[in-house]
Amino acid sequence: MTPGRGRAPAAAANRTDSYPETLDHEDVVVRRGRRSGLYTFVAVHSTIRGPSLGGCRMWGYSDARDALRDALRLSRAMTFKSAVADLPLGGGKGVIMTAPGVALHGELRTAALLDFGDTVESLGGRYISAEDVGTSSRDMRLIAQRTRHVAGLPVRMGGSGDPSPFTALGVESAIRACCERAFGSSSLRGRSVAVVGLGHVGSRVAKRCGRAGARLVLGDIDPGKRRLAEELGADWLEPAAALEAEVDVVAPCALGGVLDHVTVPRLRCRIVAGAANNQLADESVADLLSAREILWAPDFVANAGGIINIAEEQRGYDAAAARRRVRRIGEILLEIFDRAAAAGATPLAAAMDLARTRLEG
Ligand code: NAD
Repeated sequence: MTPGRGRAPAAAANRTDSYPETLDHEDVVVRRGRRSGLYTFVAVHSTIRGPSLGGCRMWGYSDARDALRDALRLSRAMTFKSAVADLPLGGGKGVIMTAPGVALHGELRTAALLDFGDTVESLGGRYISAEDVGTSSRDMRLIAQRTRHVAGLPVRMGGSGDPSPFTALGVESAIRACCERAFGSSSLRGRSVAVVGLGHVGSRVAKRCGRAGARLVLGDIDPGKRRLAEELGADWLEPAAALEAEVDVVAPCALGGVLDHVTVPRLRCRIVAGAANNQLADESVADLLSAREILWAPDFVANAGGIINIAEEQRGYDAAAARRRVRRIGEILLEIFDRAAAAGATPLAAAMDLARTRLEG
């Protein structure tokens, strides 16, 4: 489900208000689209390792500051994500701000995407856009009418298409690595996994884990997703209950800020590994997870499958090569867990350290 089309954006679910953000970016562009009248944002956090690449989020915000904050935080996370995955890319992110509860369709949607294309073009290639929550590879075609700095175009147009299957593959690889570390085996047979958020990525994570023999608990704010639970023979819970379910693995696959000083003490899982960006309300939550002996796969490592796939476009796209690279996420994660154990640090600190080393190098 993309919030901009299938149903109205759920602003209450987007807990960006609690996010602290750091302003250490190279460029921040805020433009009001001349066609749509809507605000578009692009934040370029870093181009040290290459052009900044990150998705275009189309989402409902009650306040432009929330939208900007999202762009700032998400672009910073992209810098770390690409560095840890060792990609020749920097970190950036785009946002098309809609009003809470207003879904964009037809001409207004087209106008907003063309306006966003102009914003991307104004950066002259320092930012390359792709899909994110609320946008799809079809939307990238429209953005491409205004700028050539777009990735993730449909496969028939020479792009790498929808990144979600690759993100889901990477999340499965991360879950398996966590199981190996926590339980001594990467097998998912007989493990229990709660997937919270069943959109493009979460639904595929659920199917992959189900096929691998895991017992599933599923939750989403969209009651229509209950059908997937029935199809997979999974238990269905409201999202807050699914997060707190007594399972081996919780996979947050909705929006950010889901792990905080209220939710973490209530967790009853051994592992948290999922696709959602910026899962921690703030970095101190990583200490809280470690104190509770919950193994957390840093989100920007676990969900790098999509960007790894998109980066493959730079070499001449080859889906099989992309899949091989995405499957390495588990190995990268095990290296991060080793570094964390050796340094007596959290996986977050170890992953950030690895990224910083690569950025300095
Ligand atoms: P999506 O819009 O397709 O799906 C999001 C799903 O989460 C929807 O089903 C929605 O109803 C549900 N949801 C929203 N708020 C919720 C809440 N509070 N509790 C439970 N469910 C809720 O998005 P997606 O493409 O599947 O991406 C999911 C997450 O993964 C996002 O944080 C995104 O930034 C991140 N991510 C996605 C990709 C990708 O390839 N699509 C890559 C990296 C990271």
